[in-house]
Amino acid sequence: MICNKCQNQAVYSRKYSGENLCSECFSDSILRKAARTISKYKMIKNNDLVCVCVSGGKDSLVLLDILNKMSKTHNFKIFAVSIDEGIPGYRDEALKIVENFCAELKIKYKIFSYKKLFDLTLEESLDLRKDNNSSCSICGIFRRRAFDHAAKTINADVIATGHNLDDVLQTFLINTTSGDTSKIGWMHPDASSNKLRKIKPLSEIYESEIVFYAFTNDLPFQTEPCPHMDEGIRTEIREFLNSLESNHSGIKNNMYNTILKLSQFTNQSIQKEKRTCLICGNECTGKICSVCNMITDLKGK
Ligand SMILES: [Zn+2]
Ligand SMILES: [Zn+2]
Repeated sequence: MICNKCQNQAVYSRKYSGENLCSECFSDSILRKAARTISKYKMIKNNDLVCVCVSGGKDSLVLLDILNKMSKTHNFKIFAVSIDEGIPGYRDEALKIVENFCAELKIKYKIFSYKKLFDLTLEESLDLRKDNNSSCSICGIFRRRAFDHAAKTINADVIATGHNLDDVLQTFLINTTSGDTSKIGWMHPDASSNKLRKIKPLSEIYESEIVFYAFTNDLPFQTEPCPHMDEGIRTEIREFLNSLESNHSGIKNNMYNTILKLSQFTNQSIQKEKRTCLICGNECTGKICSVCNMITDLKGK
């Protein structure tokens, strides 16, 4: 099998396009695709400081690698941050991987912890919960706030996360089943009007290609899943989409394009009401933000 771009030995067959690519041309294509997504939605502007959220999993390390390469030839800087949820025996390994990776590539890096920010580790929160909120939903509320806090602390203009195309499709289907159309409007990737932009530069790249990029570039990453992982319906949807794609190459791309159009349409019809939380002063849609609500619930005060 010969690479369609350079005549070297091909190592990757891109089913939906019919291309065969060598390792170098494959990596190039991923970099170019991420760059196109970034410029299409004006995700990063000149002189921006980009806060790159890194968990230590494959997606976030691929994102960090790609943004680090781009920052050498473009006018923006990056700063990597990780969140320590307080999961004994799991998070430490991931943090070590990220720390070494950043040291090797001379990337600025800082760790923020749930314990310091919320006075609760994830473990403690899970012990305190009375209802059957899933661990991922509790953790997700804390994590978003922690990344916001991290970005403000380092004075970043943008928060970048490693969500890939599969994540976007899964979220879309989860939102579809919940009946909440406002959440579909929020999925549109153009965040250029927000003060602190939240961007997903890998959102147009298949998860399987992120995995291949990580392997072919020898990127280190944690493979062990979080011991509290409880994704509910997301796992079923992931498997469903993968089985569709294996019989109909490119169907994920088609669905992504539908989401773009739908979310743009829905986004225009929703005026997001912005208020500030009465307890912590962070931006929220009600009187009390989701983080303060949850902490009050957990601590029973
Ligand atoms: Zn090639
Ligand atoms: Zn609050």
